[in-house]
Amino acid sequence: MSIKRTKIVDLLKGEQIGQNVCVKGWVRTRRGNKNVQFVALNDGSTIKNVQIVCDLSKFSEDELRPITTGSSLCVEGALVESQGKGQTCEIQADKITVYGTADPETYPLQKKGHTLEFLREKAHLRPRTNTFGAVLRIRHTLAFAVHKFFNDKGFFYLNTPLITASDCEGAGAMFQVTTLDLNNLPRTEEGKIDYEQDFFGKQTSLTVSGQLEGELGATALGAIYTFGPTFRAENSNTPRHLSEFWMIEPEMAFYEIADNMDLAEEFIKYCISYALENARDDIEFLAQMYDNELIDRLNFVVNNEFVRLSYTDGIKILEESGKKFEFPVSWGVDLQSEHERYLVEQHFKKPVILTDYPKEIKAFYMKLNDDGKTVRAMDVLFPKIGEIIGGSQREENYDKLLQRIEELNIPMKDMWWYLDTRRFGTVPHSGFGLGFERLILFVTGMTNIRDVIPFPRTPKNADF
Ligand code: ATP
Ligand code: MN
Repeated sequence: MSIKRTKIVDLLKGEQIGQNVCVKGWVRTRRGNKNVQFVALNDGSTIKNVQIVCDLSKFSEDELRPITTGSSLCVEGALVESQGKGQTCEIQADKITVYGTADPETYPLQKKGHTLEFLREKAHLRPRTNTFGAVLRIRHTLAFAVHKFFNDKGFFYLNTPLITASDCEGAGAMFQVTTLDLNNLPRTEEGKIDYEQDFFGKQTSLTVSGQLEGELGATALGAIYTFGPTFRAENSNTPRHLSEFWMIEPEMAFYEIADNMDLAEEFIKYCISYALENARDDIEFLAQMYDNELIDRLNFVVNNEFVRLSYTDGIKILEESGKKFEFPVSWGVDLQSEHERYLVEQHFKKPVILTDYPKEIKAFYMKLNDDGKTVRAMDVLFPKIGEIIGGSQREENYDKLLQRIEELNIPMKDMWWYLDTRRFGTVPHSGFGLGFERLILFVTGMTNIRDVIPFPRTPKNADF
């Protein structure tokens, strides 16, 4: 009878030393001499490999020949204490079955040292590298932390639609969704495209945010969060923007802006601590490979209070800094990444929550302050990342909201349902959006957002 397979992460706990075990995985390397060969096997369950010792008295050259980097194996043998450094135990192989070979001439991931740029072109195989294995396990751990945090707090996970007919969310350019024949578009009498003949009978797009529907959930269930993909057709080719990214958007009834800030700070700190505890090996690996200040930086954020500062005071600091920015600053301008990073990295050396922005540079639904000029917005700014969260207290007053919509000429004909939240039992409420990949960038220390999502979508790139 064959032995039940053990995952390498469990095997390395060493509890089965002295027993016969079975492992399955992919070969990272094979080395050795005429008497003994060592195979490093990885099955994705951990950054660590298990060493397979193949005694050449038990295996012929022919049997070992197909065991090359990238090939897949089933190995049975005794788990014994290891003499080698850096590992507790190893397997003395009795039986090896090769599931699939990997031709050394054509398998792209030979040994180590490929650049991240090279690996982006091999995105179908890069999860098998140490770096991407670590990043993807950390990504999973953070996703789990998100659900655990909100579930423990009594928030409900609300699934908002990905296809939307509202074109006024204002968060970015949208991707259209249509089944019309683009080579033969139906036209109205005035010569416009006749969307009545489209699949949904109106013009539709992929969502840029679940917030508006999230507000419907919050004003019924009290506190909700969304966690799903969002799509932005902006042509921004930066290391911090994707065309398809994942966003977490909590929305809470009876929360004012200060409660919203408290939640955002607690939430981010929780996720980082959770990753430090539950993805330690992977974070340590990335720290050692790419960024030896990573763990200090993560601990620092967890252990220090975020600075809270108004936009107006932030502008003063930037103006008085004497620094020459590419985009000049004055009250009223939208902050660029260079400004955000100056405040966080040079001035405060801490995460900063910037609040009370001019209404002109923020969305229509944000609550107007008594000064009539600023709104209760909050952006959380992080070292190395810039904006990681954007949020606000929402305008709950029907007349004020409508006035803002009219001032901005926002097409509201499909938005009556949103206004209904303010017509029936309106309440003060707040929420924010955290870009999941920006959080992963921070926790992994990676510097390009394309390297923290399995298959990135960016302008001119939708491969894999
Ligand atoms: P930015 O100014 O960085 O472009 P934004 O102001 O457009 O961001 P929001 O609309 O406030 O962002 O979205 C909420 C959060 O979603 C942001 O704080 C950020 O973490 C994330 N985010 C926004 N756009 C992108 C993108 N294109 N790719 C990845 N994450 C994004
Ligand atoms: Mn924003």
